[in-house]
Amino acid sequence: MKIAIVGTGYVGLVSGTCFAEWGNRVVCVDKDVGKIAQLRQGKMPIYEPGLEKLVVRNQAAGRLSFTTSLAEAMRGVDIVFIAVGTPPRPGHGDADLSFIYTAAKEIAYSLEGNAVVAVKSTVPVGTGDAVKKIIATVRPNGSFSVASNPEFLREGSAIDDFLFPDRVVIGVEDENARKAMLALYRPLAEANTPVVVGQRRSAELIKYASNAFLATKITFINELADLCEHVGTDVGELALGMGLDHRIGKAFLNAGPGYGGSCFPKDTLALLRTAQDHGVALRIVEETVAANEARKRKMALKVLDAVGGDVDGLTISVLGLTFKPDTDDMRDAPSVPLIETLQRFGAKIRAHDPVGMENAARVVENVALFNDPYECARDADAVVIVTEWESIRQLDLHRLKQVMRSANLIDLRNAFGRGVAQAAGFQVSSIGQPVPH
Ligand code: NAD
Repeated sequence: MKIAIVGTGYVGLVSGTCFAEWGNRVVCVDKDVGKIAQLRQGKMPIYEPGLEKLVVRNQAAGRLSFTTSLAEAMRGVDIVFIAVGTPPRPGHGDADLSFIYTAAKEIAYSLEGNAVVAVKSTVPVGTGDAVKKIIATVRPNGSFSVASNPEFLREGSAIDDFLFPDRVVIGVEDENARKAMLALYRPLAEANTPVVVGQRRSAELIKYASNAFLATKITFINELADLCEHVGTDVGELALGMGLDHRIGKAFLNAGPGYGGSCFPKDTLALLRTAQDHGVALRIVEETVAANEARKRKMALKVLDAVGGDVDGLTISVLGLTFKPDTDDMRDAPSVPLIETLQRFGAKIRAHDPVGMENAARVVENVALFNDPYECARDADAVVIVTEWESIRQLDLHRLKQVMRSANLIDLRNAFGRGVAQAAGFQVSSIGQPVPH
């Protein structure tokens, strides 16, 4: 099939590359001239394990190309995907759909034949209807279809998630779209991946409901972790004992500093706004959002506690800045409110991340950044583990302690066994483990 992808970010680039891998001819479009120029030279604008190899291979095979010209990408297209960003509107919380609407209008001008416009971005219920209206205004006699095909990939494992998903969700309102979308996803259906085909609005809501559920699961274990600290139990044992029950499942039961990233914070807020607009109370999601926000701030207090109540004038070394390992994405990373709060309390911050420092430098101020984690910890009064990159898990704790002023370890991901860190001479503060007296 001939596929165009509008928006070549984390989702657009990975989706387009994987569609090409299945043998389709794919053209990825982006307004960002620098990004397209980089991709044409086989350089990745984002960090995503395994992506570069796949892009280069499909480019070389002539199945994958990059352009800034939407009109060029639209020539002879069977399906055009919209994969642009839907960030929260500042101060409102609902999704900013301006990129979607602009893309829809631009697509309308170059639309040919019975092409399907599929919205891959995460969009509130009813956005497909709005996209259809926008296109119909430009093409009143056009025979196009609008489908919803939300994406569930996770940064850091995006290629595997796309090629081997738990399910594919497709929302359609006509046979043309249904046929085209099923033809595209045939390789997955043939590999026995469930393909859920429903109404467009259902598909749109499935994405938000799934993310809100996962955010709630994380928040649930985080609150239980607090209880563990008070009743002398270990949240790791708790999560294991709970997660082995198939009805509960092991995933998303890792207690930590609170969820962040480019999806959960914005999608939970956008879902709440949709519910409010319809006079429906989603109390559990409301509590999840509030608890997570409070938790992110509370992590700074954990650091204060660990160093004796005051960080004024102290040097704190933060290891791991991105919102999770194996990505360079800093959007809504828990490291940011932590650093800002510690700075407000007078701490000097040194920080290290194996991949995310370039992006981090754009969102945090007055932070000394170090490529070397041991250098980052030099003369620090405490080290805080915020993101559990494998390279951080592998640090030599003895060496780390040697360069520090005081051996305080605040491990917000339980990346190190408490016993191991204590044996290396650290005072350890972790998540959901009994507080030693
Ligand atoms: P992103 O910010 O990485 O990429 C969006 C891209 O779209 C940018 O490169 C931007 O330049 C481009 N763009 C915007 N308007 C355009 C236009 N009119 N024409 C051409 N290009 C345009 O965003 P992302 O992280 O890939 O997210 C995209 C959507 O997918 C969002 O709705 C997000 O919620 C959803 N999503 C993201 C993830 C994830 O892990 N990042 C996972 C699932 C779903």
